[in-house]
Amino acid sequence: MGTGTQNMEKSSQAREHMAREIDRFGHMLVTRWDRSLAAHLLSLIGQLERDSSARQEAVLARECQALSALLQGWLLQNSDSPSENERYDLLRHHLGIVSQLGMMAEQPLPSDSYASALSRDGPHLLYLWVPDSLDTSNLVQQLSCYGFLVKTMNQASKLAQALQAATPAAVVAYTEFAEGDPILTLADTICALCPLLVCSTRYDFEARLTAVRAGASGFMSWPLLAHELIDNLSFGDLGEKRDPLRVLVVEDMASLAGLYANVLGSHGVDTYQITEPARVLEAIVQFRPDLILMDMYMPDCNGMELARIIRQQRLMDGIPILFLSVEKRQSIQLDTLTLGIDGFLTKPVAPDELAVTVINRARRYRKLRSYMINDSLTGLLNHSHLYAQLEYEVLRARRDGRHLSLVMLDLDHFKTINDTYGHPAGDEVLVNLARFLRERLRRSDLISRYGGEEFAIVLPGTRQEDALRVMEALRQAFSRIDQRGGGQTFRQTFSVGVSSLASAEDTATLVQQSDDMLYQAKKNGRNRVEAWPMPEDDGRQ
Ligand code: GH3
Ligand code: MG
Ligand code: MG
Ligand code: MG
Repeated sequence: MGTGTQNMEKSSQAREHMAREIDRFGHMLVTRWDRSLAAHLLSLIGQLERDSSARQEAVLARECQALSALLQGWLLQNSDSPSENERYDLLRHHLGIVSQLGMMAEQPLPSDSYASALSRDGPHLLYLWVPDSLDTSNLVQQLSCYGFLVKTMNQASKLAQALQAATPAAVVAYTEFAEGDPILTLADTICALCPLLVCSTRYDFEARLTAVRAGASGFMSWPLLAHELIDNLSFGDLGEKRDPLRVLVVEDMASLAGLYANVLGSHGVDTYQITEPARVLEAIVQFRPDLILMDMYMPDCNGMELARIIRQQRLMDGIPILFLSVEKRQSIQLDTLTLGIDGFLTKPVAPDELAVTVINRARRYRKLRSYMINDSLTGLLNHSHLYAQLEYEVLRARRDGRHLSLVMLDLDHFKTINDTYGHPAGDEVLVNLARFLRERLRRSDLISRYGGEEFAIVLPGTRQEDALRVMEALRQAFSRIDQRGGGQTFRQTFSVGVSSLASAEDTATLVQQSDDMLYQAKKNGRNRVEAWPMPEDDGRQ
């Protein structure tokens, strides 16, 4: 570690210590007013203010001044001490802000290059490292059907150049773990930028150990199948990098909300901040958080009330809520826990504690939730959750004057697949379609298994003609995927019906129209997309 980093570490420790001391002495004053203690606190706050001014942290400096002014005002009162109520409300409020800001002010800004490079909304770039002697044309073609752009290379300089030009979703490297294999030497560089997945014809323990020590996130056998690679990119840690945990931050102080977001962002978590409690329901529907981090005391509506409002909504009932508060009294903390709040973090909370607590709970909920609302075979939304979510999306789109399209999709002659290759092969096709749709659609799209071999997809903010174009491209790509089942390779097609809010008044009509169009597509010969006849432009955005 260089001296610069050491100094920074030391000074941030000193800062954290200062914030904790201010919090400690401040809370003594909340319980019992004492003039000499107040004077001591004032000098501590003065130190923190000078420190923050020197670092040009304007918000913290201003909050220190506000707290100082409050204490000075009380000290100048010759008469009685400030009332217990004043201390409880005002002092505690200001203390909470100052100590929390002081504790977190030096958070690094999140480097979102990693997350955004892997986000499902962008193109999925893959670098494939293989010797010339191996034929990868089929793998590259199959991956392209799933929406991956694959660049093949096997020279260290080419790979270094490519990594500099653009960060891929992953580097996939073939190796036999020979002494001096350049890919093993490059592993550190790769892993600092993106995940490294290794594939090999060796899969003995020693090979696996070498891969783990090189920092590889996955180990696959060669020849590599497209769907195995995609599964490796979608599960566990890697899956979380491609689809980051989402945390909704509800905090009336924008600067604090921003700090929490920074801390979580630097750990790869996506956040959405709101400072007005009234917007929370809408934010939940829109952002679909894995956890809500909420300030306990807000001016218009306190955290307890807001938590009750959230718990009244069936679809939102399970989302964990973590309270952040200056409340140190255990009895109150316990009360909130019995009301269905999932945890309590006491301000000032240290960045690492915040990140670990939030991430663990969010992760666990995401897993549990996936069992509750997902179809067990495909992992997609099930019928009833799709329907409920669709109603929300329709209401929102109508209110905001935005587009929304609904797609119904059904596999063609699927019964024949089961009859010819066996039911397990049919299941594999269904899983493959789910994989395909997840890879090719946006993160904001809702994909569900509507029943049997029928799927429904909600495309918010999408015009019917755009939905038609997307589905046409998907139809073509899917028909080129090699399905494997019953020891054989075959191809599978689907038919699609599309309709949009431009022609449908309500959810039921929308579903009906897409269904009708699906029926039309089947009647017109299958393996095609049909859309509801479009009315004139209706002015939606
Ligand atoms: P069409 O092109 O008209 O849709 O013909 P189809 O054969 O796909 O339609 P049909 O409704 O006659 O048959 C649907 C088939 O889908 C029959 C059923 O066994 C199969 N199926 C439904 N759910 C599953 C499943 O979970 N796994 C498997 N393997 N097959 C399923
Ligand atoms: Mg507050
Ligand atoms: Mg069918
Ligand atoms: Mg069907």
